[in-house]
Amino acid sequence: MHSKDAVFLDELCPKLRVRRWRQSLHTFTGKKCIYCGKPSESIDHVLPRSRGGLSVTENCVPACLSCNGHKSDTEAFDWYRHQRFYDPRRAMAIRAWIDGDLRLALRLLQWAQPHESYSTKDKKLKIIDEDFAWQAA
Ligand SMILES: [Zn+2]
Repeated sequence: MHSKDAVFLDELCPKLRVRRWRQSLHTFTGKKCIYCGKPSESIDHVLPRSRGGLSVTENCVPACLSCNGHKSDTEAFDWYRHQRFYDPRRAMAIRAWIDGDLRLALRLLQWAQPHESYSTKDKKLKIIDEDFAWQAA
């Protein structure tokens, strides 16, 4: 079992693992806040930790310090709906994210902000976009 080695490494340096995980979240959205599109400087818990929210990818989204601070301990969707920069496509993207469908989440974010690049390393994502463009033409 090769996976055993990885688990062992993770146990050996959990801090490094957490840092790498946080960085990967930022990379997914091109270092953009999932709520407003500004540079993401922090990781926000969609369901706040104070309400039992876990530090897992499905509950953690890249957010700017402003959004993270304003949102505080409120429920993400309730808070987001009342923001000036509210965008239903972003709300859908957050829903997809917490459902664990990062691919769909990134597509929705790209739709909300077509000139930004999201996870450009994901070639399959690009292919899906090309298919979509072809259908729309
Ligand atoms: Zn923000």
